Amino acid sequence: MHVQTSFRSGKEQSKAMYEKAKKVLPGGITANIKYFSPQPIVMKTATGCKITDVDDNSYIDYLLCYGALITGHGHEQIMRATIKHMQNIGTAIFGAPHELEITMAEKLIELYPSIDMVRFTNSGLEATLFAIRLANAYTGKSKIGKFEGHYHGGANNVLVSVNPNQEEAGSELEPTSIAESNGIPVHELKQTIVLPFNDFEATEKLLRKNKDDLAAIILEPIQGGFIPADATFMHQLRALTEELGILLIFDEVKTGFRVHLGGAQSIYHIKPDLTTLGKVLGGGFPIGAVGGRKDIMMYSAPNDASDIFSSGGNSTAKKDVVFHSGTYNGHPVVLAAGLETIRLLEQDGVMNDLVYKTNLLRTKLEELYASYHVPMQTIGMGSIFNIVFTNDPIRNYRDMWKANKDLREAIDIELLELGIYNKPSNRYSLSIAHSMKDINKTIEAHEIAIKNVLL
Ligand code: PLP
Repeated sequence: MHVQTSFRSGKEQSKAMYEKAKKVLPGGITANIKYFSPQPIVMKTATGCKITDVDDNSYIDYLLCYGALITGHGHEQIMRATIKHMQNIGTAIFGAPHELEITMAEKLIELYPSIDMVRFTNSGLEATLFAIRLANAYTGKSKIGKFEGHYHGGANNVLVSVNPNQEEAGSELEPTSIAESNGIPVHELKQTIVLPFNDFEATEKLLRKNKDDLAAIILEPIQGGFIPADATFMHQLRALTEELGILLIFDEVKTGFRVHLGGAQSIYHIKPDLTTLGKVLGGGFPIGAVGGRKDIMMYSAPNDASDIFSSGGNSTAKKDVVFHSGTYNGHPVVLAAGLETIRLLEQDGVMNDLVYKTNLLRTKLEELYASYHVPMQTIGMGSIFNIVFTNDPIRNYRDMWKANKDLREAIDIELLELGIYNKPSNRYSLSIAHSMKDINKTIEAHEIAIKNVLL
């Protein structure tokens, strides 16, 4: 098999611009996830599900800014709502309460079964940080549990065992806590206990052993947006965390609105104590949110404004307040775009159609690879899935080791030559802008890629 180490042609401007970028941006990028080999492609414009690079190559986009753009790039209705909002009140951000914060909070409470109250942040990372701080304050404990391979943003205590390799990862039943980045202090690493996903027995042992230290468990209910938790595992985990006084945090930054308007929790019928949201919620602009049980969320209310603390006459209340801030929290323009996105998704048939198209693409891809006798499966839920080159079942991070990663990379780089955009080896996210024509073109490109790479 041949993995390309450079693009064949037609990327001259991209190459030149990337060389320029490397002089002023470390690695030529503004976030490490944007890098891939042979080199990131420099983009110029995007509309709907099409993205165009600086050499004027057009691609069907399945990255969609890591899943954030469920309506595609620059959806007309969202653009109109955002522009109208700015025409009415300008770019005012107030630095004070405003109506859209209330409207969006009410909408999230309506859609997410576990959410009683909401705070907004500017990213998913800030949301997970705040959720963990709330859990620490509420329980009076300071460690967290996270599952191996799950991503919760770049903070020190969660950037642990996200991509551990086989040599370092330790025992399957008690994975080693591995810092995912240089610069994470050892004492912070020790605050995080790594758990094996979809293995209740092993998780239970670790939770019982560490129950007095664990404030919360944070997890992606569908790991990476594509490896679902077993329903039984999830229900057992909910019951056990309740029994042990450990809070359960669902990180729905990826799955929120994408697998269901009410997130994965609406599919599993489970109420986590806290939920983090982001990506789709901002309608293409930066956002994050934490929502959850009133008695936990109220820990962030200033004393004077808090029904619980002021009426309870708690003498230690002042020091109990959980600090939460952010100059741009609840940015009105972002909320206007986010609310319009939700309005669009709530229209009759929109989510069903998106999931139908996603499932159709998955089925057709599986049939195509089977016809070439390539062991391959798609896994995922709702409008996200991934392509995995193995027929073995995939239930956790370690199962992914069994897949043929070189083949995946080779196919993906070939697809970039053929007008299908994604970061190599990344999951596929679809948008309401993808048409049947785009899906058929994608299948055709995969067939050419198979021939170019394998035959
Ligand atoms: N949590 C999950 C599950 C995510 O997928 C991400 C981002 O990919 C984050 C948190 C961090 O969100 P952000 O990139 O907005 O900080």
